Amino acid sequence: MRKIDYHLHTYFSADSQANPEQHILKAIEQQLEEICFTDHNDFIDGWRLQDIDSYLKELFALKEKYKDQIKVKVGIEIGIDMLAQEQSNNYAKQYPFDFVIGSIHTIDLQDITQPSYFENMTKDEAHARYFQAMKDCVTYIDNFDVLGHLDYARRYGPYEDKTINYEIHQPIIDEIFKILISKGKGIEVNLSGIRQFGQSLPGYNQLKRYYDLGGRIITIGTDSHDSQYVGMHVDKAIEMLTEIGFEDITTFTQRQKD
Ligand SMILES: [Zn+2]
Ligand SMILES: [Zn+2]
Repeated sequence: MRKIDYHLHTYFSADSQANPEQHILKAIEQQLEEICFTDHNDFIDGWRLQDIDSYLKELFALKEKYKDQIKVKVGIEIGIDMLAQEQSNNYAKQYPFDFVIGSIHTIDLQDITQPSYFENMTKDEAHARYFQAMKDCVTYIDNFDVLGHLDYARRYGPYEDKTINYEIHQPIIDEIFKILISKGKGIEVNLSGIRQFGQSLPGYNQLKRYYDLGGRIITIGTDSHDSQYVGMHVDKAIEMLTEIGFEDITTFTQRQKD
C-alpha cells in the first residue's frame, strides 16, 4: 500500500504557520510517495482561504520543483454546510484542484469547535445533530471527493467523556457511508486523533464498518498544521487498513481517481 499524506495545512490556512516547502522536505524524509496540500476554506468569517491565487501559484511551483522526488498534489479542505449549500457545491469547481476534502467544521454556520455551540445539549444530542448535518451535507452537496474526519465532533464539547456512543449513532453513520459509496466518494483516515488521544478519526471499527458496507475509496491524512507531523503514523494507518482488507489507498489527479 502506498505511503501518502493527503491532508496538509500551511500558512494559507488561518490556523497554521507552516511553510509548504518544509512539508515537502519532511515528506521526502519520511519516504512518502505522494502528498496533497489541503488548506482550509470554510464559509464563516476568519476561515475563508484569503489568497487563492497565491495559494495555487506557490503550490503548483513547488509541485514542479520537486517532481523528481515526490508527487505533490494541490487540493483543498472545504467546510461543507447546508446553510452554505450553493457555495459548498460551487467553490471547488472554479479552481484546478486535484482533490477536495469535505469536512463538517460548522453546522448552520456555527463553529462546532466553540464551547458555546454545545450549550443546552447533552452529548448524545450534540452528536445526533452533528451526524444529521453530515448526512444532509453528503446528500445535497456533491463537490468533494472524501469526507473529512468522520468523528471530529468527539474532540469538542464540555463533556467529561467525549467519546461517541456508536450504539446510538451507528444507523445514521451507516446511512452516511452508503450515500458516500453510492456517489463514488470516500472517507479519510485522519491521523490527528492518534496524536491527540491515540485513535485515528475514524477508528478501526468504523473503518471496518465502511469496508464491510462496500467502501473502498480511502485516503490517509495527518492533518498536519506543522511540518514535524507530516507522515506521522501513516505506517499505522496502512497496517490497520491492510488488516481490514483494503488493497490500496486512493489518490487523485484533477479530481479523478488515479
Ligand atoms: Zn478539518
Ligand atoms: Zn484539516
